[in-house]
Amino acid sequence: MKLSRKNLAERQEHLYDAIIVGGGAGGLSAAIYLQRYGLSCLVIEKGKGRSFWMQDLRNYLGLPPTTPGRDLIQQGQNHALELGADHLRGFVEEVTDEGDTFTVKVKVGKQNSEYPIFRSKYIVAASGIIDTLPQLEDMQNVFDYAGYNLHVCMICDGYEMMDRLCGLFVGTEGAINTAFVLNWFTPYITVFTNGKVEVGAEMRQKLQDHGYPLVETPIRRFLGENHEMNGVELIDGSTVKLETGLVAMGSHYHNEYLKGIELERSGQNIVTDSMCRSSHPRIFAVGDLKEGINQVSIAVADGTLAATAIWRDIRRASPPRRWEQ
Ligand code: FAD
Ligand code: FAD
Ligand code: FAD
Repeated sequence: MKLSRKNLAERQEHLYDAIIVGGGAGGLSAAIYLQRYGLSCLVIEKGKGRSFWMQDLRNYLGLPPTTPGRDLIQQGQNHALELGADHLRGFVEEVTDEGDTFTVKVKVGKQNSEYPIFRSKYIVAASGIIDTLPQLEDMQNVFDYAGYNLHVCMICDGYEMMDRLCGLFVGTEGAINTAFVLNWFTPYITVFTNGKVEVGAEMRQKLQDHGYPLVETPIRRFLGENHEMNGVELIDGSTVKLETGLVAMGSHYHNEYLKGIELERSGQNIVTDSMCRSSHPRIFAVGDLKEGINQVSIAVADGTLAATAIWRDIRRASPPRRWEQ
């Protein structure tokens, strides 16, 4: 059932088997499996996640490489709803461990918000990350190209950048090292710091040895049309011609709602076992939020694993069903 402001009260008394924070690739996969195990789940999705900005999913078996992330989400959402999952558009603010159950506080509506609380036995943290983009005065100019040929994921789109004139946009000196991996796909790399990074002598030398120009003048705007970026204009008025770009400026991890719960982490990634169980026995983490490779195929498989582990726990703790004659 689709939940909204109108029917929030109906499900607040219900104890869900699992509440899934994030309705992207991993969360929706978990929901489909949980419902097919005969369990009840609620997916809570704020909107505008990573899979939403994925203009096309280029490496997923069985789907044409032009499939937009939006289609994947829409289809997954319909699939989960048809199987009886609940789905709510809202922002999870806080998860509290109450012993045997969790309470999940949700903000519904950006304006005149309501704050319902839902309860579950298990939590699936499927809230992912969001890439940091270059901060220019006109962010719409960045959005016109980000996720099109201004890529954010080398594993996804290295192939798209093959032997092209590529801008690498960094926010730290360490991120410049991305160039020495990106060169598997293309050696025609220009590194842009947007005037925000101190670059040491050693790194300058390394770039020079590889023949990769370093541009430290701040960027005024990206050039191009129809979502095809073809260069960069700097604040001094000069331009650099490009055919593609890769943003390597780190990410924001959507994990604030877990702050009250101690979990083993590696950096900001949640560490899990092979079934996606975190160091808390009733919290699972799937997809980009957990340690591993940030791909749709992985997130979808993670959803399968987490749901199956939850089913095993609940099934093993349940009495066997008898055929009463
Ligand atoms: P997401 O799909 O990001 O889902 C997490 C969801 O949680 C989001 O929808 C978000 O809105 C929601 N959320 C976050 N916080 C909260 C909260 N507090 N309350 C409620 N909801 C919340 N992968 C590929 O395999 N192939 C590709 O070609 C490819 N191309 C990409 C292109 C772009 C531009 C981007 C950005 C990513 C691309 N990826 C690609 C990566 C892919 O999108 C991710 O690996 C995948 O979406 C991860 O799934 P997930 O479920 O972990 O996260
Ligand atoms: P969020 O982090 O989603 O939310 C901020 C706050 O709003 C939350 O803390 C919460 O209090 C509240 N909130 C959010 N959702 C809800 C909800 N459903 N109910 C109640 N409260 C809520 N952004 C654009 O605007 N246009 C683009 O074209 C664009 N392209 C992008 C392309 C790429 C490749 C990437 C990586 C990002 C892109 N972005 C774009 C994303 C942008 O960077 C933001 O991360 C995204 O728009 C989320 O914005 P938000 O302000 O809603 O923030
Ligand atoms: P396969 O897809 O079996 O691929 C292995 C291939 O290797 C086969 O095509 C085989 O012919 C070939 N091969 C084997 N030996 C050799 C050799 N020596 N030389 C050359 N080729 C060889 N999974 C789901 O997720 N959802 C479902 O709804 C579902 N329903 C299923 C229904 C049925 C009837 C069956 C049989 C399986 C179902 N599965 C389902 C399981 C799913 O099919 C498998 O998990 C999946 O196909 C495994 O992929 P794979 O690549 O490991 O193996």
